[in-house]
Amino acid sequence: MQSLTNRSKNVVDKKMSLMERIYLPAIFKGMSITLKHFFMKKTTVSYPEQKKPVTPIFRGQHVLKRDDEGRERCTACGLCAVACPAEAITMEAAERNNGDEKLYREEKYAKTYEINMLRCIFCGLCEEACPKQAIFLTERIVDADFGRDEFIYGKDKLVEKVDERIDITKRQIWEYQNS
Ligand code: SF4
Ligand code: SF4
Repeated sequence: MQSLTNRSKNVVDKKMSLMERIYLPAIFKGMSITLKHFFMKKTTVSYPEQKKPVTPIFRGQHVLKRDDEGRERCTACGLCAVACPAEAITMEAAERNNGDEKLYREEKYAKTYEINMLRCIFCGLCEEACPKQAIFLTERIVDADFGRDEFIYGKDKLVEKVDERIDITKRQIWEYQNS
């Protein structure tokens, strides 16, 4: 029968030699390979204690940004949810109360805002659709967890902390320089 590749070998019922029957050469050969790898540079990292550097265009966990005065930028317009191909975003809008002007930038805000990280494919379309520059994908890797419910990230995980401004400019600079 004609072979499609030249990798096929005929099976031969060959008698084992004495050296093959005592297995020692094969064991020493295996041990030498193990020893060689033992002293080689390790390619694995102890995540999450150690993190590998990511490329400038890496898209990870989202952040809902605040403006320069610390107010939430998101107005719950829903454009990110409409743009999301994975239908991972849900939100509930609310009217801003008098006295909350320092918390929310506009008269409408997201009372709840959730992203299902198990659905998300980190495409970045939500970021592109947002007219308020409120949502960005950061370099953060979504943490591993045990339950599916833990991957539904609400505002407690998404909104930027007042005292911890997240730098989202690295990828934008890279995209600008390479456009
Ligand atoms: S990155 Fe893509 S898949 Fe994930 S929430 Fe945004 S639009 Fe949806
Ligand atoms: S993140 Fe942007 S696009 Fe999404 S609801 Fe808020 S303002 Fe609208």
